[in-house]
Amino acid sequence: MEKLLITGGAGFIGSCFVQRWIEKQNIDLVNFDALTYAGHLASIGGVAENPRYTFIHADLRSAKDIEQAICEHRPSMILHLAAETHVDRSIEKPNDFISTNVMGTSILLEATLHYWRTLSASEQEGFRFLHISTDEVYGPVGRKRVVTEADAYAPTSPYAASKAAADHIARSYQQTYGLPVMIAHPTNNYGPRQFPEKLIPHFIFKILRGEDLPLYGDGMQERDWLFVEDHCCALETLLFEGLPGESYHLGSQIVRTNLEVAQQVCTQIDRQQTAHPGESKERITFVEDRPGHDHRYALDCGKMERLFGWRPTISFEEGIATTVQWYLKNPQWIETVCQEYQGNRIGLL
Ligand code: NAD
Repeated sequence: MEKLLITGGAGFIGSCFVQRWIEKQNIDLVNFDALTYAGHLASIGGVAENPRYTFIHADLRSAKDIEQAICEHRPSMILHLAAETHVDRSIEKPNDFISTNVMGTSILLEATLHYWRTLSASEQEGFRFLHISTDEVYGPVGRKRVVTEADAYAPTSPYAASKAAADHIARSYQQTYGLPVMIAHPTNNYGPRQFPEKLIPHFIFKILRGEDLPLYGDGMQERDWLFVEDHCCALETLLFEGLPGESYHLGSQIVRTNLEVAQQVCTQIDRQQTAHPGESKERITFVEDRPGHDHRYALDCGKMERLFGWRPTISFEEGIATTVQWYLKNPQWIETVCQEYQGNRIGLL
């Protein structure tokens, strides 16, 4: 019986993936998550009652817990999403990122290797470990240049450095032991159920509280914006069709500056919430920049389309409209996940 073990399935991308998977695939899913401030069962919804779904509340950094989960459930694939993910938090507490992203990944790989060695030759061949990295491991990219999967890493933030270290360890398990590891590099994701510290839900959160929208620096930082459903579709493709030892860039080629993102969020909020039309854009304010803020990331994402015909389907305008609508309709979710979060600025020196 095939089974997928996912780490971090109660987070933003993980919860979207879990919901899609249970609806579309006939393969059981085990969600291993520590439920940090960024992981919430409220994001999983009705999936929790599905007999094909199992939740394990445990920490990746506990070798005992991860070994037990793997030995008991005997997955045929592992999707590794769990991580500390917010750059501003990594500036405040870098060691938390080394601990979860580097040590946690290393512990997971070691447990996976032990288990994989107990499988038959055909099970070993079919097994897949999909490790989720980020575009940030390449560091800032100069104008008119894009990076390919073959480019060298040059991370600048503690978050990106911890993800880069985890990638190197994951790749070494493929090269040294033959563990069938693949690495995905998604660009900036957005969509429903993202914790309101991240750019797009942060703007929505601030507007809903009647506060100003803080734009770091001049707001001209460029990012590629990938709707989370499109991303999860790509991850499914890789689990079934990806090749061990390969890396894959996952992006939309929809590039917007942070200022353009803020303006689009305001347009949608004003369109959908008619109480104070046209007011939101006046709330955009420029604040001190993030230390070491990368100006531009740019990935060449042609490999996914060439090999698997995957390409994103959601336009930026449609994705932002869907996202804004979701937050407007789910104040209860915001209240539940933000009990200890007031939207205060962190990550300044
Ligand atoms: P998130 O912060 O929303 O969720 C992280 C999840 O991991 C949470 O459910 C949390 O409880 C869990 N977790 C954290 N530490 C853990 C631990 N020690 N043990 C077990 N579980 C733990 O993150 P996300 O935005 O969904 O990102 C998922 C992955 O995708 C991460 O690896 C991230 O680096 C990568 N990524 C995200 C984006 C993005 O825009 N969101 C872009 C590129 C790459």
